[in-house]
Amino acid sequence: MRLAVTDGRLALIEGGGARDVTRWAFAASPVRTEDPLIAFIHARNAGATPEGDAIAPPTRFSAPLSHPGKIIAAAANYRKHTQEMNPGVANPGGIHEKGFFLKAPSSIIGPGKPIRLPFADRRTDHEAELAVVIGRRGRAIAPEAVPDHIFGYTCLLDITVRGKEDRGLRKSFDTFTPMGPWVVTRDEIPGAPDLEVVCRLNGEVRQQDRTSSMIMPVAELLAWISRVMTLEPGDVIATGTPAGVGPLAPGDRVAIEIERIGGFDVPVEAAA
Ligand code: MN
Repeated sequence: MRLAVTDGRLALIEGGGARDVTRWAFAASPVRTEDPLIAFIHARNAGATPEGDAIAPPTRFSAPLSHPGKIIAAAANYRKHTQEMNPGVANPGGIHEKGFFLKAPSSIIGPGKPIRLPFADRRTDHEAELAVVIGRRGRAIAPEAVPDHIFGYTCLLDITVRGKEDRGLRKSFDTFTPMGPWVVTRDEIPGAPDLEVVCRLNGEVRQQDRTSSMIMPVAELLAWISRVMTLEPGDVIATGTPAGVGPLAPGDRVAIEIERIGGFDVPVEAAA
């Protein structure tokens, strides 16, 4: 099934139909949250069965998560990307050396909303990534147990100012985490995800690879992260970007598409 949010309403999309499960999710969740999808995850974890009126399948989408506790992002998880970022360096190091970092949840925007470039004179790149949404709380999770902690998958753009500041600053500007168009639940993508990720800039393919090219696969990545920080329902993990990153300019349109999930595009503007 797919879970999508439009104007604060949560739609459960399944078998060509859709139901509005917003009220059910907030009522059945044992945990208070402003985020309807996180309420849905807690309600399901509590054993409740989703209920809601049939609605027309949504055609406009907000970000599927608006208030995740944290966004954790892998650094340097595709070898060709580490090479393009370190030209001439024989062994630039990958995720095992660079680790992972946090992006501010306030940087999330939904499909169609503009990325706003904070600087006219600094390179700001697109990074198309598979994102994992956590379904069950866990710490020090064994790699083989990681699937039990995954709720589903979505598409994420990890927008990044290049430069020397910490990643947390350069990747957390407002609008720097476009996400969507929905979350596809794990049962639709069983096993280790092997999905094509494509990023287009103004219609031209710029990034194209399979998630099976990751240096550290999803199970090992989440296991490692969970040895540092407890993973909570609704937490988002951006799993790293393939080669082909490049600069954005006002007037551009950047699109992400991931096999078996879907895709969306967003315009690029200069900050006011
Ligand atoms: Mn990234």
